[in-house]
Amino acid sequence: MQNRVREILSESKLQKTPCRVDVLETLQHAGVALSEADIKNQLHYDYDRATLFRTLRTFLDNNLIHQVLVNKNEVKYALNRPEILGQNQSGHAHFHCDQCGGVFCLGAVSRALLNLPEGFQIKSFEVMFNGLCSQCRNS
Ligand SMILES: [Zn+2]
Ligand SMILES: [Zn+2]
Repeated sequence: MQNRVREILSESKLQKTPCRVDVLETLQHAGVALSEADIKNQLHYDYDRATLFRTLRTFLDNNLIHQVLVNKNEVKYALNRPEILGQNQSGHAHFHCDQCGGVFCLGAVSRALLNLPEGFQIKSFEVMFNGLCSQCRNS
């Protein structure tokens, strides 16, 4: 897992600073979208807020992570996983669990489901499904 994180940073030509490795590992391990506070709580070391903010900014700029807006004002961060999201990561749906608050990345939404008027072109979109995740459903 750790090697994969270092590989991702190498591929993006980013220096492997402790904070970057730590944040990527945390997001990878979580498997769900995390808020800045969640990330801070789960990191192995206590980095100052500016360092953490800069790290997230760098990852966003390099397309390693994306933001998810939850409940209209809460920003969460999730890893870009090409294996789930496909090559076109500009649009995919999210699932928000009403019970545990978990936010999961879903795969791409099929264009075939949309009744897009003739001549329209989608550049980006946000889709959020609300419900119960499998863990909450079974408990
Ligand atoms: Zn849940
Ligand atoms: Zn996502």
